[in-house]
Amino acid sequence: MLNIPPAPDVPGARHLHSGKVRDLYELTEGPYAGELLMVASDRISAFDYVFDTTIPDKGEILTRLSLWWFERLDDLVATHVLSTDVPDVVEGRAVIAKRLQMFPVECVARGYLTGSGLREYDATGEVCGIPLPAGLVDGSRLPSPIFTPATKAELGDHDENVSYQHVAEQIGDGDAGELCRLTLAVYERADEIARGAGLILADTKFEFGARHDDLGTRAIVLADEVLTPDSSRYWDATTWTPGRAQPSFDKDVIRRWLLSPESGWDRGSGANPPPLPAEIIERTRERYVEAFERLTGTSF
Ligand code: ATP
Ligand code: MG
Repeated sequence: MLNIPPAPDVPGARHLHSGKVRDLYELTEGPYAGELLMVASDRISAFDYVFDTTIPDKGEILTRLSLWWFERLDDLVATHVLSTDVPDVVEGRAVIAKRLQMFPVECVARGYLTGSGLREYDATGEVCGIPLPAGLVDGSRLPSPIFTPATKAELGDHDENVSYQHVAEQIGDGDAGELCRLTLAVYERADEIARGAGLILADTKFEFGARHDDLGTRAIVLADEVLTPDSSRYWDATTWTPGRAQPSFDKDVIRRWLLSPESGWDRGSGANPPPLPAEIIERTRERYVEAFERLTGTSF
């Protein structure tokens, strides 16, 4: 089902892992030998399929956006970014990151109800064990943002929402409390900034890891990519209307084309989706550029 192309060779780095979108390497030379090189490709996925067609500049847009966000968060939490001085072949779409011991938790914050949160709420009235008021609909703003952790799934599997209690049993009360506090603090900062750009940050996912320094102290560090359209749901504040599905900022163009008769694709068939037509590629690229430009207030 997942057709991820072989990761390109990067001089001075050893390939470790490829996800749907990113390729992860370990640096083998230079001042950061032993640390990670995280490379964002131009790959795009929808409905858990990775397309053969890529979106030009997507890797660079997401890398620059994530770095922009890291800078706006570093008074709240330590971040894993060490350097952007990366090998030429991945220039502009890679970061050198401190290698951490990752917590096996997808730290999700939700300020609005949709997606898996909505499905759980419709079935139980709760999300991740948090009871919510009756009468909420797709896109409703929550009374206050909530921490809704999920387990990290293997490649191609879905993450599963779990309770805070489950996380506390897995990693201990102290760390679970810190992850919850940091997730909500970062979400609130980011939502406020997004709002200034006319966007709503409906929900987002963070990953954290632990770092030990030479003196034996231990810090919790924000890792992975942050607050990109791939890890977050941004909605346009002016068109937000609870009670229907909100157009997602990035993949909506692709999802709608795929489900339309034009694509000829049957979602239930198990077959890979067809290649994306040039017009869909271009419109999707424009959405990513627009997200970058609106948030950062700079042109790409
Ligand atoms: P996908 O996101 O496509 O479902 P994936 O999570 O396996 O799959 P990526 O997101 O591309 O693939 O992989 C990045 C991996 O690197 C994740 O496992 C993430 O937890 C890990 N990671 C991110 N930052 C760090 C870090 N600073 N130290 C160690 N591991 C990290
Ligand atoms: Mg990932």
